[in-house]
Amino acid sequence: MTSCPINLVWLRNDLRLHDHPIIQPLAAQGECPGLAVVFILPRHWQEPDQQGQTRLGLAKTRFLRACLIDVQRSLYDQNIRLNLLYGDPVELLQRWYSEQPFHLHTASAQAPEEAAWLEQITAFAPVSTYATQTLFHSEQLQPLLNDTAWPASYTAFSRWLEQHQRLADIATPLPPPLLRARPHEAPFRAAVQWPDHQLHHIPTWSGRVPVSSFHGGEDAGMRHLSRYLWRDNAIRHYKDSRNQLGGSGFASQLSPWLAWGALSVRRVWADIQHWESNNPDHEHSGWLKKELLWREYFHWTLRLKGAAVFRNTSPQSFDETRWQAWCNARTGYPVIDAGLRELIHTGYSANRMRQWLASFFIHQLGLDWRMGAAFFEQHLIDFDVASNWGNWAYIAGSGQDPRGGRFFQLNQQLERYDPQLTHLQQWLPELGTPTLPQVLQHQSGKRLLPNWLAPLPPVNPVE
Ligand SMILES: Cc1cc2nc3c(=O)[nH]c(=O)nc-3n(C[C@H](O)[C@H](O)[C@H](O)COP(=O)(O)OP(=O)(O)OC[C@H]3O[C@@H](n4cnc5c(N)ncnc54)[C@H](O)[C@@H]3O)c2cc1C
Repeated sequence: MTSCPINLVWLRNDLRLHDHPIIQPLAAQGECPGLAVVFILPRHWQEPDQQGQTRLGLAKTRFLRACLIDVQRSLYDQNIRLNLLYGDPVELLQRWYSEQPFHLHTASAQAPEEAAWLEQITAFAPVSTYATQTLFHSEQLQPLLNDTAWPASYTAFSRWLEQHQRLADIATPLPPPLLRARPHEAPFRAAVQWPDHQLHHIPTWSGRVPVSSFHGGEDAGMRHLSRYLWRDNAIRHYKDSRNQLGGSGFASQLSPWLAWGALSVRRVWADIQHWESNNPDHEHSGWLKKELLWREYFHWTLRLKGAAVFRNTSPQSFDETRWQAWCNARTGYPVIDAGLRELIHTGYSANRMRQWLASFFIHQLGLDWRMGAAFFEQHLIDFDVASNWGNWAYIAGSGQDPRGGRFFQLNQQLERYDPQLTHLQQWLPELGTPTLPQVLQHQSGKRLLPNWLAPLPPVNPVE
């Protein structure tokens, strides 16, 4: 055992080098302590839950792997190896510590699972935590961070930020580091085993999956950000187009990189502000910043409320037929089946579609919203524990700001957001070319289309 403890950086949802509040300051330190960087793929992410769902669907796994390859390359350029381990994080770190003591540096916990890891690790090693995922540090929100003071709604949260001028206080993003520390490697190997997706059930579909514009990694994320803001200037219509179901630049589509921390949210914020300094009209950019604050709100809510966010307060029953129809994108509602296919095959869907899917799952299929949230967790390339579970709880009426949930009337929504049936036909080509009224009639069970399944009867009347 070497006596001089090294600095061990445990990367989790902060797979980048720019604006990295852990790596940047450590980079400046000299020879001893040395520096090691690790990412651990938890084994249990691949263990199926009661319904056979894991946390690593195909598209999500691809995105994560690309993020890891990218950060591995950036570290390698600076003579540091990314140690990629597989197993139980606490066990692995304990084993490492017994052979080479370290001071662990890692992101602060978001979910209770991570908080439990950090608590266990603290019992045998010094641990420092950092705000790598959020716009704010906990000190900046301190007066709010207790159960009684935490705002019950997003609106109250954003009002508080304004009143206390916190938006002017967001830290300037740090530049990428120049690493000079002595590199260390894990004293053992625990090779990553990636899921074999041949074994996973992915509903078949004869259509062509569009080439994904999402490629994991900091480099691809930076290029996407710059294209969105500067080359395409698509931010200039954000507020008007953000509710669409797709289309080039309809929304920022930054979420996958933000979720894995391949892009720092402070960097995104700073770049939007830079854009604003060159453009007098801030209506659309302001709305995009507002969405980033929604993300912030969900992140801090989860930290504060912990396990309560994952609880379902209303009684639920399980219906295998309905659940299977959902998993196979065969519910009989064209708009839902199209959305599910897109989600499963690409790992992404627009916010509006996510709202329809969640509302349908909860209020029309009558299934436990937590199963729907876990389904999203498996597939979304931008899975973010706080935003995903927070949004599901919000639509279910289980979370903060409960107004008894949010219900989206599918026919009205379709008429409003996809009247040309563009999204529907892209993802459900079997439908042929029905008219909008024909699809509406099918979805309300009045007159069925010949080439799609009859809709499952809703558990609650919808009209
Ligand atoms: C049921 C449900 C589940 C969701 N699960 C996730 C998830 O796992 N990960 C995730 O990042 N977002 C999630 N969202 C929020 C939102 O749908 C996505 O952030 C957004 O669609 C991503 O696309 P975008 O980057 O183009 O968003 P934009 O409209 O361009 O917004 C910019 C950024 O703001 C943040 N943001 C926007 N809307 C929300 C929101 N409602 N809640 C929290 N943050 C938001 C995201 O970081 C997003 O990248 C979910 C929404 C619903 C209704």
